[in-house]
Amino acid sequence: DKLKAGLDKTRKSFTEKIEQLVVGYATIDDEFLDDVEAVLLSADVGVHTTAKLMAEIKSGIKSKEIQAPEQLKPFLQTKISAILAEGATPDRLFAAQPPTVIMVVGINGVGKTTTIGKLGNYYREQGLKVMLAAGDTFRAAAIDQLEIWGQRTGAEVISQFEGSDPAAVAFDAVQSAKAQKADILIIDTAGRLHTKANLMEELKKIKRVISREIPDAPHETLLVLDATTGQNAINQARLFGEAAPVSGIVLTKLDGTAKGGVIVGLKAELHVPVKWIGVGEGINDLRPFVPEEFSRALF
Ligand code: GDP
Repeated sequence: DKLKAGLDKTRKSFTEKIEQLVVGYATIDDEFLDDVEAVLLSADVGVHTTAKLMAEIKSGIKSKEIQAPEQLKPFLQTKISAILAEGATPDRLFAAQPPTVIMVVGINGVGKTTTIGKLGNYYREQGLKVMLAAGDTFRAAAIDQLEIWGQRTGAEVISQFEGSDPAAVAFDAVQSAKAQKADILIIDTAGRLHTKANLMEELKKIKRVISREIPDAPHETLLVLDATTGQNAINQARLFGEAAPVSGIVLTKLDGTAKGGVIVGLKAELHVPVKWIGVGEGINDLRPFVPEEFSRALF
């Protein structure tokens, strides 16, 4: 299936390297452990998570859970599945009373607009009434792109003009969503990182405006990250986390990257659940993240 095919390169850079390693060693020695560490580091799981996994491997050796190199792969699979499953939450958060407001943040180019379109489509297919808000008013193209997704998915798009106040767009959108009894309102936001302080202020302001209208909203703040950027995705997550509490991560472009291991590092280091994964450019290429399914496809 598409997930398994999408993870081909990650599997090659990770699981297959572990398998090759195992064949090359008859017994577990320091050299073997060094090689295991190198594979983990090259698989983008991150320095901290690699250290954590190495410590677990060493204690697995001590406790005789791992007695021979070939026992390493199943051991790692168990540990990685556990990391991914830890704190796994459902893929959606519905408000007690509609609309459920989902704010989507992330830097330009990560696949934010595409994700919003796909997400809108996902909920529309469930028979829900979806509205999109063009909160990235900095780029005219972002507004146009969202309009196109609106047409494609049958979701109404609330927009103003380029350069208008994103918080005003959000305000409008919340009002319309309430008046028209939308089930889901998905709000796009700007993603230009070169003005970090401004961007973070803007996001906070949008949040304030939303929660003034609906006290427990936004019910979800999704951070979109590009898997192909590897460790950089983890740094971006830290940065955004400082500005706005992120409730879930969308990891895009997992198809065709060798850096899918970053999902393990994200989970282990940030404790923010990955909720959705992007496995292609098509409208149906956004999937709820199911840890067991992912680790099965990876191993
Ligand atoms: P934005 O600037 O963050 O809004 O990014 P866009 O939504 O415009 O996406 C940037 C590019 O990434 C577009 O060409 C998308 O088709 C592509 N893209 C988005 N998500 C995925 C994905 O999961 N897989 C692949 N292969 N491409 C994606």
